[in-house]
Amino acid sequence: MEKLYDVIIIGGGPAGLTAALYAGRAKMKTLLFEGEAFGGQIALTTEVENYPGGALNITGPGLVARMAEQAEHFGVELKKENVTDVDFSSKDKKVTTSKGEYFAKSVIVATGANPRKLGVPGEDVLTGKGVSYCATCDGAFFEELPIYVIGGGDTAVEEAVFLAKFGRKVYIVHRRDELRAARSIQDKALNTPNIEVIWDSVVEEISGDGLVERLVLKNVKTGERTEILADEDDGTFGVFVLVGYIPANELLKDKIALDEQGYVPAGEDMKTNVPGVFVAGDLRAKKLRQVVTATSDGALAAIAAEAYVEHEY
Ligand code: NAP
Repeated sequence: MEKLYDVIIIGGGPAGLTAALYAGRAKMKTLLFEGEAFGGQIALTTEVENYPGGALNITGPGLVARMAEQAEHFGVELKKENVTDVDFSSKDKKVTTSKGEYFAKSVIVATGANPRKLGVPGEDVLTGKGVSYCATCDGAFFEELPIYVIGGGDTAVEEAVFLAKFGRKVYIVHRRDELRAARSIQDKALNTPNIEVIWDSVVEEISGDGLVERLVLKNVKTGERTEILADEDDGTFGVFVLVGYIPANELLKDKIALDEQGYVPAGEDMKTNVPGVFVAGDLRAKKLRQVVTATSDGALAAIAAEAYVEHEY
């Protein structure tokens, strides 16, 4: 038998890293997998204004780096391996990665969510060539260029304000006549002089030869199409697609119960419908997806896993 862990945590964002910290402090033999880089969604965020104590001088990557260090300090093993399969059918759960097979008495799934795509022609081929899903990562490439931000939620509107520091002009393209973003976030955007909202509009197509050069918008009320072309001097412009997230549940289909949107239903005890398997963070069906709720889930999931290993395994 391979080494048997008390708990394997899948996902290295705030939920997974907090679960790891609590499991490590509880002296559980703990292994955490993160695919490429630690951090999850928050690692794509420049400022963490709404995590208590995190307002000043803390970036998303800075915060998760400290969380990872703290978990390691308590004996947690962190591995950068892509989990490719899980098998929860036996008492000992099996987690398969690109490098091998691992076994644990309990599993905490904290894989989070990924950016949703528009699904329009040109989007895939021009990703990284003007189309982006991460303002923090790519904003600086669009210094003094026009930028189109697609979406009307907290992410789109907040990142539009961030992008307005780079772009000559930032257009928020929203499919309705009212933003979904919180009032405080909307106010920041509406008070930024180089931000304008294009209402009732959706993207129909993005095109360009190597770089984004053309964007076709359709007004959903009038049916009118507008073709936006790059200025000759600019040559290109930015299109930031920030239209929400889809749960990262690929590993779980037919393995644990999911709701209609693909999130994992679980209450305060973080229990899924499979004994010994717990969920934490953005993947869980819940109202508020924030670092503060992710870390809370992580702590609760670790405590629940510890109780399971102690009393039910
Ligand atoms: P979201 O709240 O789901 O908003 C997605 C936005 O994209 C909505 O405005 C939606 O339009 C639009 N949209 C969705 N699909 C579209 C499509 N195919 N074409 C065009 N537009 C489309 O996602 P989010 O803004 O990424 O936020 C996710 C969660 O994180 C939320 O709970 C949010 O509160 C939270 N968050 C919080 C903060 C903060 O508190 N500082 C910052 C970022 C995110 P409709 O409005 O018409 O549905």
